[in-house]
Amino acid sequence: MNEQGPWISPGPEPGPGSRGGDGLRGDPNRSGGRKAAGAALLILLLICIAAALLFIRSQTVAWPPPDWIFAACDVGQGDALALAVGPAEAVVIDTGPDPAKADHCLTLLGVRKVPLLVLTHFHADHIDGVPGVLKGRAVAEIETTNDRDPPKGASEVAAWASAASVPTSVAAAGEHRRFGPVSWDVLWPDPAAESLTTPPTPPTLPTPSDPVHKSRRRGRHQPRASPRGGGEEGSGPNNSSVVLQVTVATRDGPVRLLLTGDVEPPSQAAILAAHPDLAADVLKVPHHGSAHQDPDLFAAVHPRVAVISVGKGNTYGHPVPRTVALASGAGARVFRTDDDGQVVVFGTAARLRVATRRQDSMP
Ligand SMILES: [Zn+2]
Repeated sequence: MNEQGPWISPGPEPGPGSRGGDGLRGDPNRSGGRKAAGAALLILLLICIAAALLFIRSQTVAWPPPDWIFAACDVGQGDALALAVGPAEAVVIDTGPDPAKADHCLTLLGVRKVPLLVLTHFHADHIDGVPGVLKGRAVAEIETTNDRDPPKGASEVAAWASAASVPTSVAAAGEHRRFGPVSWDVLWPDPAAESLTTPPTPPTLPTPSDPVHKSRRRGRHQPRASPRGGGEEGSGPNNSSVVLQVTVATRDGPVRLLLTGDVEPPSQAAILAAHPDLAADVLKVPHHGSAHQDPDLFAAVHPRVAVISVGKGNTYGHPVPRTVALASGAGARVFRTDDDGQVVVFGTAARLRVATRRQDSMP
């Protein structure tokens, strides 16, 4: 029984008469009962297969699968994501740290038009690949967070956009947009909610031990490590990431995705408080699977698929086992770009599938 897979229920406890039997001999009535039980098991199995997430390695599917919905590129330590919105057309969310890798990934996906490039925040592991996205593609607009920190990253994006004559805009909670079958709400940053987390003018100066004050001060002026790399914890820019709640219309229903940039617990909790219904089929795990996560967010999302975009051997120790366990404990099958390569979600709501393809197996 166990060899047939964990999806098969062990069924009711056997009756006293069945003890010690081989399961093949018995009276006709019991045989009929076994047939009925077998049929029930078969039906259960078929239902499970139909509802199950199917995972397919790249060798068995065209690349990308024609009905692809979402892709997480393999760009090393960083995020570069795409949502298919039409033939050869995708909304791109972040670009990873390497222009060549971003360009290569979008080329493999067949993306030639980008109606919108969203940059969740201005850390290098999310923006330095921008020139690779712009290379040979029609990019209609670049949308960013309202937090222009680190300033160098914000200036670079402005310069790239200007050189390519691409208009820029700023995302804010409450914004709703649609391209083809893909629509989304911007959940974060929320200027109103952010002001709530800012300490009110205190009667006395905040002490250095005040965690909120400390976090904000470090994020804006004193990056602890790698201000260009963006791996530091407790950073203001991370917590200002643009977060998108995406709905993709498919033939048999909507597929929902939650794309979270690098938000950490303070923003995760604020997002959850403002939007209790965060249920999604696909979760882009925040901040490359770092240790700083709000378990309530994972429970609320309850994803079928969790994607961790992360570079092999990165110096930050991402992802931490605890966060991987948090995602799988919330019900998700976890995919990670360092091990799996490019991760593509495709199919429909009722038959959601995931395919992966490693860079070294690509042409
Ligand atoms: Zn990052």
